Amino acid sequence: MDAGVNEFELIRRFFRGRTGPGVLLGPGDDGALLLPTPGMQLVMTMDTLLSGRHFPEDLPAADIGWRSLAVNLSDLAAMGAEPRWCLLSLSLPQADETWLASFCKGFFALAEQAGITLVGGDMVRGPLSITVQATGEVPAGKALLRSGARPGDRICLAGVPGEAAAGLQCWQAGERSGALVDAFCRPQPQLQLGRRLRGLASACIDISDGLLADLGHVLAESGGLGAGLQLARMPTSAALAGWGSAAQQRAAQLAGGDDYLLLFTVPPVFNLPSQWREIGRVEARKGIRVTDADGQLLTDLPHGWDHFARGDSSHA
Ligand code: ADP
Ligand code: MG
Repeated sequence: MDAGVNEFELIRRFFRGRTGPGVLLGPGDDGALLLPTPGMQLVMTMDTLLSGRHFPEDLPAADIGWRSLAVNLSDLAAMGAEPRWCLLSLSLPQADETWLASFCKGFFALAEQAGITLVGGDMVRGPLSITVQATGEVPAGKALLRSGARPGDRICLAGVPGEAAAGLQCWQAGERSGALVDAFCRPQPQLQLGRRLRGLASACIDISDGLLADLGHVLAESGGLGAGLQLARMPTSAALAGWGSAAQQRAAQLAGGDDYLLLFTVPPVFNLPSQWREIGRVEARKGIRVTDADGQLLTDLPHGWDHFARGDSSHA
């Protein structure tokens, strides 16, 4: 790192002295010392964000900070877990204190909101890359898995898929504000929803690679099932409906990534709260079939995802 400010000084300034529930020893020693809650199981997840690959190179540091934690919290939400502790590994091209202060602002704003404590990490000099490891807790035996979907289950969402993908395209076109740009820059992990789904959802996943792709993972993990989706039931918003062409909107909804919304299946015996939207049903026949408002089967699924329609499981 730079001659003036060394790694230890930056760690001391930005990361030490943090503590929270269950933290016996936070950043500063060779390792963190944590006290898990009796009766709870640990859930661990990790994601790396590479500059230029997982976020635009000109994304503000505060948004990068928020996002790097949000993608991990979304995985905890998808497991039905309570966020507890996290580790942060930063690879930075230079010891830029202004950048780091801004990164921390976004990162810790979300950490406080979600009730997760940073307990350690690492810092190296290199191309901009951020890795977060997050640990959560879930009551024993209550974790939400991808593998429990059954034919007849309702496939549900509680949010608008496609906004983040549209927002990224807006960003690339030079827009720097608005609902779609915000959806991309500041994903809101659905932790409350994940908690509520414990003991209720038969399967759950967070949409990071696109709705069809992630639904495909649930169906594959649940023993090679299929699904029928109705486009007319797909949640939308004024912002998404006012963006692009109908085909672009559909592509964003079905195949856009980065939403970090929970996609879950619920046995048909449950009535759904009004905020949840059933977009289709799990079926025994392999493949994902999408029908339009007139009940016509879509044959032009967004490019790259047409193999789902044929029941080709090569994506699993
Ligand atoms: P070591 O060489 O023993 O791994 P480091 O110098 O990498 O120690 O880190 C010293 C302490 O600072 C450790 O407790 C580590 O967890 C913490 N730390 C380092 N980088 C970060 C970071 N980015 N965020 C939080 N804590 C960090
Ligand atoms: Mg180290």
